[in-house]
Amino acid sequence: MTKKQQGIAIPPPFPVIEEDDNSSKLLESIRERLQRTEQALQQSQLRLARTQKIAGIGSWEWNVQTGEIYWSDELFRIFGLNPSDHKQIKMEWLLGLVNPEDIPALKKVMLAAAKRGQPFNIVYRIISCPEGEITVNCHGEVECDEYGRTSFVSGTTLDITARTRAESEVQQLINYDTLTGLPNRSLLHDRLKLAIAHASRDHQLVGVLFLDLDRFKKINDSMGHPAGDLLLKTIAIRLAACIRESDTLARLGGDEFVAVLIGANTAEAISTVANKILMLISEPIYINSQEIYTSGSIGIAVYPMDGDDSYTLLKHADLAMYQAKELDRNNFQFFSSEMNVKVLERMILENSMRKALEREEFFLVYQPQVDARSGLISGMEALLRWQHPDLGLLAPDKFIHLAEETGFIVPIGEWVLHTACQQNRSWQQQGLPPVRVAVNLSAKQFGQYHLDEMVSATLMETGLEPKWLELEITESAIMKNAEQTAIILRKLKEMGISLAIDDFGTGYSSLAYLKLFPISRLKIDRSFVQDITTNPDDAAIAKTIISIAQTLKLSVIAEGVETRAQMELLSFNNCIEMQGYLFSRPVPAEQFVELLRDGLKY
Ligand code: C2E
Ligand code: MG
Ligand code: MG
Repeated sequence: MTKKQQGIAIPPPFPVIEEDDNSSKLLESIRERLQRTEQALQQSQLRLARTQKIAGIGSWEWNVQTGEIYWSDELFRIFGLNPSDHKQIKMEWLLGLVNPEDIPALKKVMLAAAKRGQPFNIVYRIISCPEGEITVNCHGEVECDEYGRTSFVSGTTLDITARTRAESEVQQLINYDTLTGLPNRSLLHDRLKLAIAHASRDHQLVGVLFLDLDRFKKINDSMGHPAGDLLLKTIAIRLAACIRESDTLARLGGDEFVAVLIGANTAEAISTVANKILMLISEPIYINSQEIYTSGSIGIAVYPMDGDDSYTLLKHADLAMYQAKELDRNNFQFFSSEMNVKVLERMILENSMRKALEREEFFLVYQPQVDARSGLISGMEALLRWQHPDLGLLAPDKFIHLAEETGFIVPIGEWVLHTACQQNRSWQQQGLPPVRVAVNLSAKQFGQYHLDEMVSATLMETGLEPKWLELEITESAIMKNAEQTAIILRKLKEMGISLAIDDFGTGYSSLAYLKLFPISRLKIDRSFVQDITTNPDDAAIAKTIISIAQTLKLSVIAEGVETRAQMELLSFNNCIEMQGYLFSRPVPAEQFVELLRDGLKY
């Protein structure tokens, strides 16, 4: 497009006039007028250009119908370009100068202006300037033709880089600590409030860790403030490495830092982070070629137990920090004492579990599985027990969960399988009536290694025939990694081992998988058996499980049978196999051998 003259009317074309005296005068005066008009026009353009330059405003015009684009000289300068280098401006070229992140929004407003006559005001970033990225504010107006179609879109573009930079500097000053660049107290409260709102919606915990460095004042006083500053910066970097990006790390001033943890949903998960922090900050720090050792004390408050607003949580974390300082250096304390007890118990348990296998503290008890028609023992379930040196006899609900979390379940599970197979084989060799032994497997045992190989090696080593081994798995364990589990289960089945679904009815309630996995037996969960004679719903569930098993040609066994009435109801409904206190509690091997020899008395 040609330059559109700004506000100046160009005189109409002149008629051709014969040159006589009069006419030459007329011509002369017209020439003068023309010259004056041209001068006025030039001056006006210059003035406009000067004004644009002073104001840092560029102007532009886009002829929507022809696609031609005009830019004022100042606009070229704003874009860091030389006006004389660019005669023809194309839309694609223009978009190439814009920060790619801002292009979609810019395209959208340009299109809306061209198609629907919508004026716009948009801020975007330009990447063509040699000095670096700049931010502009672009304002566009629309002119329509006599048919109401958009003919021109024109507007101004203003460089607002300095303004936005100043604004963000102010934001930085209001919300961030200048030394470390971390959020300050004010932003911490905002973030904590937000975390609480999310956690209350999703029923999750928020951990607030209040850290105070031990002996910071001493270091600051003896080595000087610049050294102290350097120490704080180093600590800030180390702390940031301990938390996730979605968490918040703030400095409250002095040597006080706060971390807000979201998604850490147990006392254990929160204490793991606290431990990591303590470990990292106690590593030596080198300042002015001097090795400095520091440590910290951490107080922890947890939403919702220890408060439901940011101020209370912070106050309680602060109080807990003082408790931590009193106890010992380099330690952490929860605000609520139950949390401390939980963490302590877990630490004791985890440490002792490491040694339990080699110290032979684990042992198995066996519970008979009974054919209620004949009263004979058809099988036994091996159940794990831990004779803890300090805590006494522990049932699996006290430690299996921790063993799964820490991965100890893998060696422990291997030991259980080996011991149960060896025991069963030994009883058979003693001439006792052969029965199958059921061993519980945890989901973790499927994921970590070649379970099928381990099982087949164990059978080889112990000499037990596969038909005397049954593996019990829960529905949730199967579904955790259904495809991989199916492959392993098929291999186990091919070996001749039978597979039972433990606690059936409590987990994944889709029956589709029953057809997909090579299962031999369903174990009706104890919770349905418990009230089977008094609660019609439980009775209906138990009956349904029995008929599912019949339809799919699976065996079925009821767990937790404690009374004769339960036994009779189950027998009446065609559940023949049972396990429970009515027949026998789980007993150590020495006692079980008597049951095998003499039969059950119930
Ligand atoms: P489970 O496999 O469902 O085992 C049955 C549990 O019910 C056993 O508890 C048993 O003692 C208990 N029980 C049996 N009959 C009755 C009864 O008539 N009334 C009542 N109230 N309870 C009865 P235990 O031995 O405490 O084991 C609990 C769970 O720990 C087991 O549930 C199993 O899931 C797990 N577990 C046990 N040993 C192992 C193991 O070696 N490896 C793995 N991964 N898990 C195991
Ligand atoms: Mg079981
Ligand atoms: Mg069970």
